[in-house]
Amino acid sequence: MPTKNGSQYLERLRLHPKDLWIEGGKVEDVTSHRAFSGCADSIASLYEMQHDVALSLKMTFTSDNDKSEGLSFITPTSKDHLIQRGNMMLSWARFSGGVLARTPDYMNVILMACSAASDFFGKEDGAFGQNIKNYFRYVMENDLTLTHTLVNVRKTKKYPSYAKGDDLGLHLVRERDDGIIVKGARILATLAPLSDEILVFPSSVIPTDKDASRYALAFGISCDTPGLKFLCREALSVGSSSFDHPLSSKFDEGDAIVIFDDVFVPWEKVFIFNNVEISNSAFSNTRAGPHINQQIVTKNMAKAEFLLGLAALMTEALSTHETPYIQALASELITVYEVSKACLEASISNAKMNEWGVMEPDSAPLSAAKSSFTSAYPRLIEILQLIGSSSLIAVPTDADFDSDIGDLLEKYLSTDTLDARQRTKLFRMGWDISISSFGGRQVLYERFFSGDPHRTAALNFASYDKELVKKRALDIIDRG
Ligand SMILES: Cc1cc2nc3c(=O)[nH]c(=O)nc-3n(C[C@H](O)[C@H](O)[C@H](O)COP(=O)(O)OP(=O)(O)OC[C@H]3O[C@@H](n4cnc5c(N)ncnc54)[C@H](O)[C@@H]3O)c2cc1C
Repeated sequence: MPTKNGSQYLERLRLHPKDLWIEGGKVEDVTSHRAFSGCADSIASLYEMQHDVALSLKMTFTSDNDKSEGLSFITPTSKDHLIQRGNMMLSWARFSGGVLARTPDYMNVILMACSAASDFFGKEDGAFGQNIKNYFRYVMENDLTLTHTLVNVRKTKKYPSYAKGDDLGLHLVRERDDGIIVKGARILATLAPLSDEILVFPSSVIPTDKDASRYALAFGISCDTPGLKFLCREALSVGSSSFDHPLSSKFDEGDAIVIFDDVFVPWEKVFIFNNVEISNSAFSNTRAGPHINQQIVTKNMAKAEFLLGLAALMTEALSTHETPYIQALASELITVYEVSKACLEASISNAKMNEWGVMEPDSAPLSAAKSSFTSAYPRLIEILQLIGSSSLIAVPTDADFDSDIGDLLEKYLSTDTLDARQRTKLFRMGWDISISSFGGRQVLYERFFSGDPHRTAALNFASYDKELVKKRALDIIDRG
């Protein structure tokens, strides 16, 4: 099947119900469930864009077997491919103002990089290398939607889940001729309720002792595999009204705890097996990072752009746009937006072919932009609160306007430039991104979705090529 459209996406979700739980109940059909239907429709709209002939932008490419596939699956071999892929990513990110973070391109580029680096997975047993290539092709040719999970649950954070015999984390139970049985739990899997497949990858460093190797696994399976259970956190979309809940009614992507209750994984879906060395170096050796970071920084740029536009509209509505204090606050939004844009451009200008024959965006500007966003985002939200103040709370619902006091609301909530409903619509958007529980989850997401930001920053420093800057500093020091 070439690129799917929106109704094919929804139909597949209906035909493959997963063992999904929320708020004490099992979900029969995500596409009609109160918690998920709004976001399901939004993701369907993204897939629909792949078929929109009126879009001037390229959303697809022709694969080596002459089929039209989504551009996020392309194996880039030129800077032009990176530019095309970046434009496609931006059009998906702009659809939600960047709040829908796990658009399917996030996972598609990870799989592309892993497939290109198949020799790494197959360095001890060629079958694992072939498996990852086949899986990538299967996902691309069926245009499947993926979630992923990296982090094991732990009884205590004093020691890793594989220490002291605590078997809570995902581990191998036994081998069979046709595959493996795995058990354990992981947190989290964002977009799991609305995904077709789950990619399970190792993240933390696993010690080299024999017992720990049971945790050194990577595989990809369908979300409706028997024994696989998802518990989604409670819904953040309190209602379906896009006036009352402009973001949460459409973009609550869901975060799930994943429980593997004796799940069977066929050998052909296993990519890493009992191999601590491959497991511990998978992310760095596949070079997936710079590709994911292109998607992440593109999303960040779209998000900063959205917040900047929103802030500008709010200041005009409140007639504070010429107040220097407010202008100075809002200028921080410009900085984040422009820095994200510049880093994306720099990453493509300095892109190079990597050892797997893939054109790789320069990771340094992308890592810098990504890292700074984890602390910039909470500040951007603080700025919206400082600009909006009580106007973010004086936001009646649609039903209030239709009630007997509707006339009074029309009278008392209008501004110089906006009538009461227009003003409320604008500030409900500000409320949903900066005050609501949906907005709170967005802040937590930006801080942590890609791991502990302090450890990520430390890694950035450790892996950054510092020789040239040290030499330049020494030149100045030694000059006397
Ligand atoms: C909204 C959301 C969505 C997510 N989605 C996904 C997903 O789709 N897939 C996925 O695999 N994961 C996902 N994650 C999980 C994410 O990968 C983890 O949250 C992240 O790796 C951090 O791990 P942790 O939450 O266990 O926090 P910890 O690592 O325990 O860190 C908690 C705090 O303790 C501090 N800390 C930790 N160790 C030390 C130390 N030694 N010294 C000092 N301070 C320390 C950290 O800096 C941090 O502030 C998601 C997380 C969130 C919040």
